[in-house]
Amino acid sequence: MIKLKFLGTKGEIEESSKIHRYHSSMLIIQDNFKLLIDYGELHKYELSKIKPDAILITHAHPDHYIWTKKDYITNIPIYMTKKTFDYGKFKPNNPKIIKEEKLFRIGHFKIIGYNVIHSIRCPAVGFKIFVDKKKLVYNPDLIDIVNKDRILNKVDYYIGDGSCIRANLVRKKGEKLFGHTRITTQINWCKEKGIKNIIFTHLGKETLRKEKQFLREHPEVKLAYDEMELIL
Ligand SMILES: [Zn+2]
Ligand SMILES: [Zn+2]
Repeated sequence: MIKLKFLGTKGEIEESSKIHRYHSSMLIIQDNFKLLIDYGELHKYELSKIKPDAILITHAHPDHYIWTKKDYITNIPIYMTKKTFDYGKFKPNNPKIIKEEKLFRIGHFKIIGYNVIHSIRCPAVGFKIFVDKKKLVYNPDLIDIVNKDRILNKVDYYIGDGSCIRANLVRKKGEKLFGHTRITTQINWCKEKGIKNIIFTHLGKETLRKEKQFLREHPEVKLAYDEMELIL
């Protein structure tokens, strides 16, 4: 049995609601093994309470990686790319540097950190996780997935960027794009690939404002909320 638990579900915004108070962060639990993805500034629980066996970091923005802003002492192994490690002002005690697009293992999990387009200064990856014959992807901040066709192949669970529903948060600097793509665009990617379970976390302003209406219009999609649990 695999359990997902969303510890936080909002992005880097001032606004919050009762059920979206903390920065996006998700636990995957199999048997007694706990893998945590992202740990940002606004969190409900200290790591000493969560007790993850390992932590994966998508990128060094402070809503995903507390070490960008402050020194936070833990000996838990923290997996991230070299770019993320170099960006953060503070360095965790037990970093594990991973290579983009290359499979690695933690416990029973097989994992790939794949390149996404999101930030120019602070490059991000998403994680594709293979566990118990299931495949899930977690990309809370992105405009696009670089090798989308391959990465989304045969995925069972898509956990995506909930920053906006229809608002345009894509920005341009020279030829380079940064920001967040729409929820509706990501739903189309999933439909094209036949992905049945579609969940969004990292909710932004527009999504918070229109949450109820959106859920009525899209019963096939879930918007994660703080403390939401799913059994896969
Ligand atoms: Zn973010
Ligand atoms: Zn970001």
